[in-house]
Amino acid sequence: MRKCGFCKKDTGIYLREHKLGLCPECYPAWFEKQVAETIHKFKMFKPDDQILVAVSGGKDSLSLWQVLSRLGYKADGMYVCLGISQHNYSDVSKEKCKAFADKLGQKLHIVDLQTELGMGIDSIKNYYRKTCSACGTIKRYYMNRLTLEQGYTVIATGHNLDDEVTTLFANLIQWSEGYLSRQYPIIPEKNGLARKVKPLVRNSEKQAAIYALTSGIDYIRDECPYSTSATSISYKENLNRLEEIHPGILRFFLTNFFRSKKDKPMGEDVVLNPCTSCGQPTIAGLCKFCRMKEKIKEPPKRRHVR
Ligand code: SF4
Ligand code: ZN
Repeated sequence: MRKCGFCKKDTGIYLREHKLGLCPECYPAWFEKQVAETIHKFKMFKPDDQILVAVSGGKDSLSLWQVLSRLGYKADGMYVCLGISQHNYSDVSKEKCKAFADKLGQKLHIVDLQTELGMGIDSIKNYYRKTCSACGTIKRYYMNRLTLEQGYTVIATGHNLDDEVTTLFANLIQWSEGYLSRQYPIIPEKNGLARKVKPLVRNSEKQAAIYALTSGIDYIRDECPYSTSATSISYKENLNRLEEIHPGILRFFLTNFFRSKKDKPMGEDVVLNPCTSCGQPTIAGLCKFCRMKEKIKEPPKRRHVR
């Protein structure tokens, strides 16, 4: 039996990428210290920042919210009710977020797409070839709007190491220079765009799951029913296989990518103007979200693909 690296008790948790054994009692403090180091390393926020955490009810975002609260930050939550009826996904995830906000004693803002747009993702998907791309536009719009309207200084999301490496790999395969130039754990505030940070970016999905389990977080176990992009699932599976053979290689890959961008300001080359309809910053005249609002006024022309 391996021993915990801190208290020397027997432990079943072994992180091969760190060559470290931890017991369930010591694990949460280790994870929280890792996140604190990431916040410090990338200068994500200061103790007096007002943080809005985008929560979905899943393990990553709820873990992030709890870590920030335990580290002493002022962090409220924001949940976008997407109107996904399969497996009662939206109802269950909303209840998890509400219960968790009560447990933390923090405020939870809820944006309901049915109220805001007259329809949720179950209907909006019929207008788009890729559901996640439409959903991403919606979530980014409300995150930015709420952050600025409610006086928060930064928005934090629960993207973990696996998410970021998968995105990096996909961007490299497609040689998407624009996305590659912007991929970083902190995007500074600019012309009406709120600062965005990803404090879990140095922690794997497995580490976040162990944190949720060892610190008693009640999260939704089901994946979103639309998260079935065959390409990104296959990238993730193959990257995981690589990590199995070479523990720590994904963290090494991502860290070196970020290091190569150090001191290069993010998105400096992008010119933003206020959207002619809603006033939020955009590179076009009318922002993507307002174009979506126009589109969904008419009956859908496309068939849903995924
Ligand atoms: Fe939205 Fe796609 Fe994520 Fe589901 S998987 S919440 S549709 S972005
Ligand atoms: Zn707009």
